[in-house]
Amino acid sequence: MQSKIIKAKVYITGSCKSYKNIALSSEKLQKTNFLALSVYFEVLFKGKVLNVLFDSGYSKHFFNATAKFPNKLYALITPVKLKKSLKELLEIDGINKIDYIFISHFHADHIGGLLDFKDSFFVSSRSEFEKLFNKNNLLALKNGFLKELIPDDFLEKLVDIESLTKIKNELFDEFLWLDVFRIFRLDGHAKAQFGLAFKYNDLEVLLVSDAVWDIKSIEENIKPSKIANLLFDDSKKFYETLEKLQIFSKQNPNVLIVPSHCESSINKLIKGLKNA
Ligand SMILES: [Zn+2]
Repeated sequence: MQSKIIKAKVYITGSCKSYKNIALSSEKLQKTNFLALSVYFEVLFKGKVLNVLFDSGYSKHFFNATAKFPNKLYALITPVKLKKSLKELLEIDGINKIDYIFISHFHADHIGGLLDFKDSFFVSSRSEFEKLFNKNNLLALKNGFLKELIPDDFLEKLVDIESLTKIKNELFDEFLWLDVFRIFRLDGHAKAQFGLAFKYNDLEVLLVSDAVWDIKSIEENIKPSKIANLLFDDSKKFYETLEKLQIFSKQNPNVLIVPSHCESSINKLIKGLKNA
């Protein structure tokens, strides 16, 4: 039986406030909400139905993890508004079990809900995760990583992206997962950042996480402000990845590219999934 995606739905667990012009240098010095995007998939894989998530959004665990200094700085720099946690939103839709959570990268707005999913497996790079986790707490915090958000048995339940089948791709390191997802390595913004490409009926999507904050960086070559370099894990790699995404976008004009915090792209994804 052929593997395929049977269902796909966008979930927003909340948002954080930050400056628009950090994401896009053409914008005014004005605060805006950065939505926390997750996507749910129902996948038919080798005759079995699997429930899969792209990122886990915010949850109350973010507030616990940032209750005290120095972690409190994280919550002060990016004040978070939580709607409902992803676990709660999924339960409302009758989804009570998640098999796999794909982690695009380890910033709190992407891993904030991991602790709510006790039975799930996680998908990321083992070596990159270990590098991040072995830093002392302050250095990890500087990388935007809150160790408190990682479940104790994380490594036992980790599917290592680098152990998956590698696919030839001239632009990105690419891996095939569950026969229906193509995982792209998107270095620069954060350690162990990966994007997820998929096809849902006629809709082709590439979720690029925070490889850019706004689609205009890819489509109109508008760069983030210089101050953003301080936030990146590796600004040289960030711009290399951006260039590759610009080439990918030109070569694949039919693929909807969705940065996790770009509201116009999220709206296109919601509409696209409904109509696909
Ligand atoms: Zn991020």
